[in-house]
Amino acid sequence: MKVFDRQGAKVRLDDISAEPPKGMTREKAEARFATLGQELFDLQDAMFGAKVNSVMVVLQGRDSAGKDGAIKHVVGCLNPRGVIVTSFGVPTPEEREHDFLWRVHRHAPRLGEFSIFNRSHYEDVLVVRVHDLAPKAVWKERYGHIRDFEELLAEHGTIILKYFLHITKKEQEERLLEREESPETAWKLNPTDWKERDHWDEYTQAYEDAISKTAAKHAPWTVVPANAKWYRNLVIAESIVEALRKRRKDWESTLEKMGREGREELAAYRAQAAAAKGAKRKGK
Ligand code: ATP
Repeated sequence: MKVFDRQGAKVRLDDISAEPPKGMTREKAEARFATLGQELFDLQDAMFGAKVNSVMVVLQGRDSAGKDGAIKHVVGCLNPRGVIVTSFGVPTPEEREHDFLWRVHRHAPRLGEFSIFNRSHYEDVLVVRVHDLAPKAVWKERYGHIRDFEELLAEHGTIILKYFLHITKKEQEERLLEREESPETAWKLNPTDWKERDHWDEYTQAYEDAISKTAAKHAPWTVVPANAKWYRNLVIAESIVEALRKRRKDWESTLEKMGREGREELAAYRAQAAAAKGAKRKGK
């Protein structure tokens, strides 16, 4: 796993392992994930009540990298009341009539909530760049727009966490072939995935640039070793929990203050009601 939180950082995906570290086993990872899941649920509850922060999770990765699987596992730890998952596919005609951030901004989380993005505004500097869907002069400007956009969200209290699910070319091949064989995953079969694979190196370059140009303290990128699904889930859960834990004290003091104010208001109401009742009795 590698975290990038500084603009301009050197990103070399080929130098980052897609495998779990030595000594990590599926058993250990799943046990730790279960513990983290409980903590995540509690943190979400505190954030939901305090309403001073929100979370935007961006999941990016090549076809079959496991975006859906990661969402299934992470969302499984959360209270559905406070989480919305949005998938970004090929823009609709209406979306094309707006700037590229329009469709994304509408799904940015409200205070207290989680927004999880399956693909995102980053497609506009990835697929768009690789397939020349917009002139270079257009997509080049987008890194700056993305930085400004994420800064705006962060100023509004959004905790932004961006994940690149890192798999090897070989692992992708195995996963795509498996889809052809297994009836459970046959619905995911898509010839485009094989066509996209031919652009592997161009995507690598596009991802490295996107990560490097938009990494920031308030919007870090984590390159998640994703060849093993159980380790991928653990890394994402651990990273979200770590980011939220830092705010826990703030949320707890906000909740305490809310409780105090609520109790004071209630006491004032009760005193007023009792006084009104007394006055009524005297008047009889
Ligand atoms: P998954 O996203 O899990 O791979 P899928 O391929 O079924 O599943 P869809 O929602 O049908 O997902 O569409 C995803 C496709 O939309 C991808 O090929 C992606 O590159 C493309 N896409 C997303 N955003 C844009 C964009 N801004 N411009 C052009 N194509 C885009």
